[in-house]
Amino acid sequence: MQLTSSEVNSRRTELDQILVDLQHLADDGKLPLASKAVDIVPGEGQVTAKIFLIGEAPGFHESVEHRPFVGVSGKLLRKTILAVGFPSETVYISNIVKVRPPENRDPTPEEILAFKPFLDREILLIEPELIITLGRFSMAKFLPDVKISQVHGRLHRVKWVDKWQFVLPMYHPAAALRSTQMKNAFLADFQKLPKIMTWLASQPDLQKLTLDIKAELM
Ligand code: URA
Repeated sequence: MQLTSSEVNSRRTELDQILVDLQHLADDGKLPLASKAVDIVPGEGQVTAKIFLIGEAPGFHESVEHRPFVGVSGKLLRKTILAVGFPSETVYISNIVKVRPPENRDPTPEEILAFKPFLDREILLIEPELIITLGRFSMAKFLPDVKISQVHGRLHRVKWVDKWQFVLPMYHPAAALRSTQMKNAFLADFQKLPKIMTWLASQPDLQKLTLDIKAELM
């Protein structure tokens, strides 16, 4: 779908508004984990991105630079997507929770719920062809009852807010850094991305598609 420049501009304006709304809540002390606007690590990337990656929560480096995935695991993620033909400037990257949890602990269900409306607004705005979830917390947003070890790297289609959404659950890059075996699985999954994007682009209408995802993409 080719957007006009005024549509692109209006998406940018709405994206800025999402951040402003988050910052107001943070300043008012109404956002968990945040005590001030500057604690927010916003989503980053193209408003026209076809690929939307969702991580878990910012870590130390992200909270200093106010950008998602800029620490060690972020470098692995950015290097990997570049290697398969998708430089990070061409995608959109965000997180389930947009403030660093203390000691990088797992986000709680209440924290995930508090940030949900903002992530939902980002997704609805960008309308990506594909959402890549990184790790189990973002996977659970779309695929609540599965195990990541059983579904990683396999293309799924889910009903989300009345529309079909293609979702590709991946291991989190931090998990990939824990062992050679996990790293190999992470890299092998990302190597499927060009084929998946070509297949999605070849479909005339992703909403009307009768499900026939090719076996090699599943
Ligand atoms: N891990 C995440 O899940 N998100 C980031 O932004 C950085 C590390």
